[in-house]
Order: sequence, then C-alpha cells, then structure tokens
Amino acid sequence: MPLVSMRQLLDEAAQGAYGVGAFNVNNMEQIQAIMEAARETKSPAIVQASRGARSYSQDRFLYHLMLAATELYPEIPMVLHLDHGNSVETCKSAIAMGFTSVMMDGSLMPDGKTPSTFEYNVQATREVVETAHSKGITVEGEIGCLGGIEDGHGAGLDALSHLTDPDQAVEFVRQTGVDALAIAIGTSHGAYKFAKKPTGETLKMDRLIEIHKRLPNTHLVMHGSSSVPKDLQDIINQYGGKLKPTWGVPIEEIQLGIKNGVRKINVDTDSRLAMTGAIRKVLWEKPEEFDPRSYLKPAREAMKKVVAQRMTQFGQAGHAGDYAPISLEEMAKRYREQHVAA
Ligand SMILES: [Zn+2]
Repeated sequence: MPLVSMRQLLDEAAQGAYGVGAFNVNNMEQIQAIMEAARETKSPAIVQASRGARSYSQDRFLYHLMLAATELYPEIPMVLHLDHGNSVETCKSAIAMGFTSVMMDGSLMPDGKTPSTFEYNVQATREVVETAHSKGITVEGEIGCLGGIEDGHGAGLDALSHLTDPDQAVEFVRQTGVDALAIAIGTSHGAYKFAKKPTGETLKMDRLIEIHKRLPNTHLVMHGSSSVPKDLQDIINQYGGKLKPTWGVPIEEIQLGIKNGVRKINVDTDSRLAMTGAIRKVLWEKPEEFDPRSYLKPAREAMKKVVAQRMTQFGQAGHAGDYAPISLEEMAKRYREQHVAA
C-alpha cells in the first residue's frame, strides 16, 4: 500500500482509543526494525525523520528505503513524517520529496534554539498548513517548549519552564488548522529526562487533560516519550558504556495520556539504547569480529523488540488491517470541502 496521511492513522486511532508510536530513523536497519515490529504486532506505523536524519542520509536514501518498505510490507499502513521542521522551507522540501506528514515546529525560531513568539508560530504554521493540506498532507504543530536538545534541535530549557498554555493551544489550533498538536507537559528530548525515579506524577497530566477537554478533535502528541528502561541502560554499561543514571517517561503515564487524547507518541532514545547495547555486546564478547552484519543484525533485532513492545503498550497492535488507505488526493479534497475539521 502507498504511504498514507498521518491524519488518517490518527483519526483511526482516536476512534479505536489507542495511541500510535512515531519512531525515528536514520538508516535501513532502523526502518527494517520498525517494519518487522509492525508486521509481528499487526500495527500501523509512523516512521519519522528529523532534519539531522535527513542530512545524515541525504534524505533521498531514506525516502527510497521507505518506498521499499511499502512494497515489502503491503499490509501495513505507513506514514513518513518530518520530525521538527524548523522552517516553512524545510517543511515544503519534505512535502516535495514525498513525506505524507510534516511537523512545523514554530515554537522555536528557525535556528531551532530560540523560543519564538505566538504570532510567529501561528504565521509559519498556517503557511505550512495551506501548502500541505492542498496536497492531502498532514501537519503537526507545537505550542509551548519541550525540555532538552535532540539532533541539535531544542532550546535546552528546563522541561517545566515553558508548559503549554491551554488558552493559547485553543487559539493556535483555531488560527492554524493543524491536524495534530505537540504539547509541553514536562517531557524532554534525549536520554537524560529525569534525574530521579519518576513518582507517577512526573508529567503535568492535569494540563494535558484540560487541553484535551477544550480541543477534543485535535490529536495530541507527546514528544520526548522514551521510557529509557534500566535493562537497556544496563546492557550498555555492562559492555563498557558509561551512561549516567537516568529515568524516562513511565509507560503508565503515556497510557493515561492515551486515555486523554494523546494519539502520537514520539520514541527515539529507546531505539538508540537498544541498538547501541546490542552492538557493544557483540564487540565486547567477540573482539575478533569485523563483519558489520555481525553486530548490525543483533542491533536491528534489539530495536525491533523494543518497538514491538511499545506498539503493544500504546494499543496500536492488531489495528493494521482495520482500514483501507485514503489517497492523498481524496484527503486534499476533504480538506478543501472541510470534511476534515480544521
Ligand atoms: Zn520532539
């Protein structure tokens, strides 16, 4: 099946009251890991590439790998999503290449570091929405600022310093017409999210619940939502790594989010930890190995395992065959005729 719009996947997820993980990729093994996990769990899949991933892979490589995935996994509805587009131009270039969903992160200026004004955010996001919707492509916006930095993107802020204001969120969606909205409720990018064990009230869930009540038709997105499990950290450190103790977002809090309008959950760190641990183990135990396949195969398998586990925990497992893909042309027509709520 062709690449599909993210709006369709998230509308289906809302109907079925489940969440969909969005997993970051830079290379072939990571795409294969996600697709194998999707096949094993019968899950729809969102594969996302950041600006860093696009430059690492010259992005045409990623795009053609994704086309290969659509041929090899025809039963899986798949989205190719741009993670944290920093400018209107970046989003337009992804749309021109064939991405079926883009994030315009206007919460920061195009440098990807400086928090922006509400007016700038609305204007840049609105421009992306107009271009994208005319082609049936989905748009995710962001209001409020996340903590941390990933792939050089982020203000490096404390996660609680720029939480999403519910009044601004309502106004932002009304003025831009975004399909999905990333909100800041205390999560951070990267491996070092929390310096002590989460209490079960790590995230500002009251804030999330209030935003969902006021925007019941907007799909909410949780960024920086790796769980950073201890067993994956331990494998890295057991085989010569030096990760400092750290904690991620507890699965139970993500599941509470899913009960309250969260439809897309971004996960990158967990995949990175799984792959790196598997590679370290092989190179530590078999220092005579020099065939890259000897460590990339277990790395791919380790990532597949954690992705499949997340797909099951988020509730998307079993839903790959629920629906036929809607073409981008049809999505564009629906936006034009406003069958899809703006
Ligand atoms: Zn993010």
